[in-house]
Amino acid sequence: MKISLSASCLCKGVKFKTNGEHRNVSNCHCIQCRKTHGIYGAYSNINDKDVKFLNKKTLRWFKSSNNAKRGFCNKCGASIFFKTKNSNNISIAAGMFDKPTKLKTMRNIFVATKSDFYKITDKLPKFSKYSKK
Ligand SMILES: [Zn+2]
Ligand SMILES: [Zn+2]
Repeated sequence: MKISLSASCLCKGVKFKTNGEHRNVSNCHCIQCRKTHGIYGAYSNINDKDVKFLNKKTLRWFKSSNNAKRGFCNKCGASIFFKTKNSNNISIAAGMFDKPTKLKTMRNIFVATKSDFYKITDKLPKFSKYSKK
C-alpha cells in the first residue's frame, strides 16, 4: 500500500521518512531476529529510494551474514533495518514508525526456528522458512 510514514529510533539519532509502496508487516521468528530484537522481528519493507533520512548520525551496520546486514542505533541500541545484498528493498522494523501506521501484520515466517517461551496465537499464514509472497 502506498503511504508516507515518519520513523525514528528511541533516541532519534536515526530519523527518516518513507513515501512509497509499503509491504505489510511480516513477523520473522528466525534466530537472528530473536537475538537482535529479544523476540521475533516485525518488519515492513519498502524500496531503498523511498526512504529519506532526516538524521542518521548514530546509524551503524552489522554484517549479520554473507548476504545481509542489519542497521542499528549505536546510542540507544534500537534494531532498525535489515538489508540483503543485491536487493533494492530495505526491511524496516515496524515499531520505528509513528502511529497511525496503517500497516497490518500479514504473516509469520521462519516459524520452525521460533523460541519456546511464546505461542503464535494469530490466524495468519505461517511459513516454516522464508516466503517471497
Ligand atoms: Zn537511537
Ligand atoms: Zn528474522
